[in-house]
Amino acid sequence: MSDCLFCKIIDGEIPSTKVYEDDQVLAFEDIAPKAPVHVLVVPKKHIPTLNDVSVDDNALLGHMLQTAAEIARERGTHETGYRTVFNVNAGAGQTVFHIHLHVLGGQQLGACAAER
Ligand code: 5GP
Ligand code: ZN
Repeated sequence: MSDCLFCKIIDGEIPSTKVYEDDQVLAFEDIAPKAPVHVLVVPKKHIPTLNDVSVDDNALLGHMLQTAAEIARERGTHETGYRTVFNVNAGAGQTVFHIHLHVLGGQQLGACAAER
């Protein structure tokens, strides 16, 4: 989508600090980290919210979660703990309408650490 921030990051039009990339996903550092580890795992397919996924996306969503776990392992937060979050719509704090999985860790996380 031409006016989507994360599509522009995927296309390289807007720079990001890349953590991982393959044919299905791009993972990059959040520009305003809320924890020592704060990476966004983003599908290359433009999907506005989690409400818009279909059964065809099941493998993609599984791959996003597996990518999140691998990043947590690489950052050394997989044993102590980390959190994966999809914010869905404005009431949950979603600001970018291209789904993204927050991977938060590297510190003790409070009950609302993923909130904005
Ligand atoms: P949301 O609030 O939609 O769940 O998460 C959007 C996230 O994207 C926020 O944590 C925000 O800091 C991050 N973000 C917004 N704009 C940019 C950007 O231009 N580059 C990067 N790397 N992250 C961004
Ligand atoms: Zn997009």
